[in-house]
Amino acid sequence: MGVEEVISKLKEAVGSENVITDPEELYVYSFTAYAVVREEPLAIVKAKSTEDVVKVLKIANDYVIPVVPRGSGTSVIGASTPVKGSIVLDLRPMRKIRVDVANGVVEAEAGAYVDEVDRECRKYGFMFPVDPASAEAATIGGALAMDGGGMRGARYGTMRHVTLGIEVVLPGGQVITLGGPVYKQATGYDLMHIFIGSEGTLGVITRGWFKIVPAPKSVGRVVAYFDNVEDAAKGVYEIRRRGFTPLIIEFMDDIVVKLANKVKGLNFPEKNMVIVDIDSPKPEILNSMLNEVAEVLKASGAVLVQFTTDPDEMAKLYTVRKQAYPIFAATFPFSFMGDLSVPLSALPAVVKKVREVSAKYGITIGLIGHAGDGNLHPLVGLESRDEWWSKARPALVEIEGYSIELGGTISGEHGIGIERKDLLIKELRARRSEAVLEYMRQIKKIFDPKGIMNPGKLVD
Ligand SMILES: Cc1cc2nc3c(=O)[nH]c(=O)nc-3n(C[C@H](O)[C@H](O)[C@H](O)COP(=O)(O)OP(=O)(O)OC[C@H]3O[C@@H](n4cnc5c(N)ncnc54)[C@H](O)[C@@H]3O)c2cc1C
Repeated sequence: MGVEEVISKLKEAVGSENVITDPEELYVYSFTAYAVVREEPLAIVKAKSTEDVVKVLKIANDYVIPVVPRGSGTSVIGASTPVKGSIVLDLRPMRKIRVDVANGVVEAEAGAYVDEVDRECRKYGFMFPVDPASAEAATIGGALAMDGGGMRGARYGTMRHVTLGIEVVLPGGQVITLGGPVYKQATGYDLMHIFIGSEGTLGVITRGWFKIVPAPKSVGRVVAYFDNVEDAAKGVYEIRRRGFTPLIIEFMDDIVVKLANKVKGLNFPEKNMVIVDIDSPKPEILNSMLNEVAEVLKASGAVLVQFTTDPDEMAKLYTVRKQAYPIFAATFPFSFMGDLSVPLSALPAVVKKVREVSAKYGITIGLIGHAGDGNLHPLVGLESRDEWWSKARPALVEIEGYSIELGGTISGEHGIGIERKDLLIKELRARRSEAVLEYMRQIKKIFDPKGIMNPGKLVD
């Protein structure tokens, strides 16, 4: 097989303007949010329709060329990092969105940005339930392939929990629809959920149908500061125990708050911070609900609690959380965002472990997270890239590995990709479930017998 032959087939199939082999563009696509590994692909193909995807996968399968489906490349664990000699299939030109209010469904093509889908739903008084912090860039296809979550996860879960159906193109070009725009479907094995979280290793998702939920009529924000992180965790637990179902419950430790103050010239109290958003269909009772939540947090040990319903004030109180990772990325020559998920009661143990590990390796590690669902992100800031292998990686292996001991998991929402393959094996071993890896590999073989889909990731 000649490379020239494959490129000319691709150009013939989808139009030469949609096949990019220019070295400068290939260089740009070699980067993703996972800064540890960079690799240049053979070509980038921009897909404008499901038919384009079918044609590309047929050619790739015939010539046994690896295909890396790609949204915006915001995966922090290398899931979208190109494979040498691969076709990177850019789905972003596929952006159609259709809200079906009567049936409570939004249909979106794979390349639509999550934020864009949310904005479309809001035109009709609804919202898209899942809101990753990267929503402005993350695509629907990327979020589905990673089973993305976000701030509203404690109430609505991850993509897995809001997806009703998907259209998938399999290697070889067969198009299948799994589920559809209905709220219930009991028709045998649930293959849709095998594709959600499959990290582009089984096929290309071209569209999805999702539940939409009413946009809140009135929202208020409570911010509580704790000296002691155990008290913060207790507060989160108490809010839930008393039957509140907040829109978001976010956590930042004092290391993150201190850094944000320093870098952005802010003056937040340098303590562990919990942010809780409460919504109500009845604006007149919102203030009393916020007050109740504030009282719960005070009773749990918060040393200072503020709340507001003013949108500007709410945005100000959210600055630290919104900018936490960009602040790390801008401050340190090299940074990384980890991921783990534990039962809520284990939150203090994670924070303690992070402090110990950070001291052991002499590196800065802060913690942010979607506390309401036990999902935390250690933020690592390094003085030089060399410290990645000598300090940061072993430190993260200790921290994320510890979540297994606490009854949790090594990834709540960022997935496995290249970065966490060893940790996945560790977790399966700890659960005496190594066989799961083999089942996953068998599933991959069924859908992708030639192994062209995103090789080297997840189970490969
Ligand atoms: C600052 C920052 C904040 C973040 N916050 C969150 C957060 O709150 N919650 C969260 O869950 N994640 C978060 N992430 C991680 C990342 O944004 C998500 O994983 C996101 O869903 C990836 O979307 P993407 O379009 O960039 O996908 P990409 O990075 O391009 O791809 C991710 C994976 O999906 C596959 N893929 C992409 N499109 C398709 C498709 N159409 N069909 C099949 N496979 C496909 C790729 O091959 C790859 O394996 C964050 C990342 C950053 C940098």
